[in-house]
Amino acid sequence: MSKPKFVQPSLTFTQELKARINEYFEKNNIAKTGNWNLYSKAIILIVAVIAIYAALVFFKVGGIAGWSLCVLLGFVAAGIGFNIMHDGGHGSFSENKVMNKLASYSLDVLGASSFMWNMKHNVIHHTYTNIEGVDDDISAEPFIRMCKSQPYYKMHRYQHIYIWPLYSILYLFWVFVLDFKKYFSNKIGPIEISPMSTKDHLFFWGTKLVYLFTFIGFPMYQVGTIAWVIGFFTFVLTTGVVISIVFQLAHTVEETEMVLAEGTPPKVEDEWTKHQIKTTANFATHNKIINWFTGGLNFQVEHHLFPRISHIHYPAISKIIKEVCVKYDVKYNEYKYMYKAIGSHIRHLKSMGSGLVPKF
Ligand SMILES: [Zn+2]
Repeated sequence: MSKPKFVQPSLTFTQELKARINEYFEKNNIAKTGNWNLYSKAIILIVAVIAIYAALVFFKVGGIAGWSLCVLLGFVAAGIGFNIMHDGGHGSFSENKVMNKLASYSLDVLGASSFMWNMKHNVIHHTYTNIEGVDDDISAEPFIRMCKSQPYYKMHRYQHIYIWPLYSILYLFWVFVLDFKKYFSNKIGPIEISPMSTKDHLFFWGTKLVYLFTFIGFPMYQVGTIAWVIGFFTFVLTTGVVISIVFQLAHTVEETEMVLAEGTPPKVEDEWTKHQIKTTANFATHNKIINWFTGGLNFQVEHHLFPRISHIHYPAISKIIKEVCVKYDVKYNEYKYMYKAIGSHIRHLKSMGSGLVPKF
């Protein structure tokens, strides 16, 4: 399949959006990359992961306290992904390229390949957001039917219920199955991945081995098999649920559109900027705890329009983007509360699971 093409941008909307955002950074004389609000958060998360690991593996904290630490580790690992890895991968963590690379490698430390992530997320998902058959983020067939072009099976009637155990295994599946599927097929969805250098191959395998030692072999040796099984699965299942919910609320809710690019080459009816706004939604942007923890992934509209701007600036630029959207009559999708976005995600899955075609 050839890559979908977007309509040429209208000079007015896209230009004004970019000009207003650039003006904000110039006027306030601040860099678009991270600042100490982000770096202090990164330090807290890194210290937390090391401390929890040491408590569990070296000091062998067990019982309810140990189990609670494993739940916390699940949240901290997700937080590192949202705040450090994600900004690093987009080159927005720091002005320094080496710092961005190091930040993106935090994903490899946690077992998933940053090379595959950059292809799947930065290249495919951010360019072809919610384009059916292209964006890998809305593809979980045959288990979940997220859009109408995906085949319908009777089991989908219950997908809004059985997604929860599926979401919980996402992180495990990603580390042990999805990365290897991409590696050996050389593809993400219909799109071929960039050729890997020898260094990329060595890094892929090397970091997987380090992960096996750090999170499986060594902890099992230290605490014993049963304690490791309980602890490890508590940790990875927690991370799985947390990252799945945050990912899904951005693009698979009732307000966000799924787009079918048809023709040869496939064409998208909108210009890229408007396409991003139509296919993306924010949630709970006034909740300081969610803002801090999700690394701006609750400001997905801002992130999709300006992925190279650090999430630390999203609350400020969000006001400007809203103003421009109002001026050009472009609908800006936002859920005030997280529970409302979760409700909308469930309703979307229910309607896709009904076998009917409720939207578009
Ligand atoms: Zn992103």
